[in-house]
Amino acid sequence: MGLEEKLPNGIMLASLEKLVNWGRKNSLWPATFGLACCAIEMMTTGGPRYDIARFGMEAFRASPRQADLMIVAGRVTNKMAPVLRQIYDQMAEPRWVLAMGVCASSGGMFNNYAVVQGVDHIVPVDMYLPGCPPRPEMLIDAILKLHAKIGDEPINAARAAIRAQSGARTELIASTVKYAKK
Ligand code: SF4
Repeated sequence: MGLEEKLPNGIMLASLEKLVNWGRKNSLWPATFGLACCAIEMMTTGGPRYDIARFGMEAFRASPRQADLMIVAGRVTNKMAPVLRQIYDQMAEPRWVLAMGVCASSGGMFNNYAVVQGVDHIVPVDMYLPGCPPRPEMLIDAILKLHAKIGDEPINAARAAIRAQSGARTELIASTVKYAKK
C-alpha cells in the first residue's frame, strides 16, 4: 500500500508546523549520558535486539552540541547535578529531557543527602519513565510518547496561545496499544 493511494490527485497538503515537528521528532539524537544501572538498559536499547536506529536515534552524541535529547539514565548525585546542568545548557535548541527510571524521576529509594530527589530540580523534564530499571521496551515506549508530544508542539507563541485556548492535549497512547495487531 503506497501513500499515493490515500492522496486525492497526487496532492499532499501539510502545515509548516506539522512538517517542522515531523522532522524534529524523527531526528532526535540522544546525548551520551548514563549515570547508573539504568544506563545499561539504555545501552541495550541501542543494540541490535531493540535497535533504536529504527527511529533515527542510534547516534548517541559525545558532544552535547550535537544532541537534542538528554536521557537521564540513573540517579543524579548533588555532585553530578552541576555537570548535568552544564551539559543541558550546551545542548542545541530545541531540546528535550527524558527522566529514565525512578531514581532520575524522584530519587527512588535513595532518599538521602547525596542524591537529587528528582532531576526536575535541575532541568525541565518532558517525559518521566517509571521502573527500576525500566526495560528497553519501556524506554522505547517513552520515546514514542515523546515523539507524539514533539509532533504536537506549537511552533510559536501565537500557536501556543491558540492551542491553550482550545484546551487541546496530546494524546499519549501506549505503543503496545497503538501498534497492537487489530
Ligand atoms: S531506577 Fe533502579 S536501575 Fe535505575 S538507577 Fe535507580 S536503582 Fe538503578
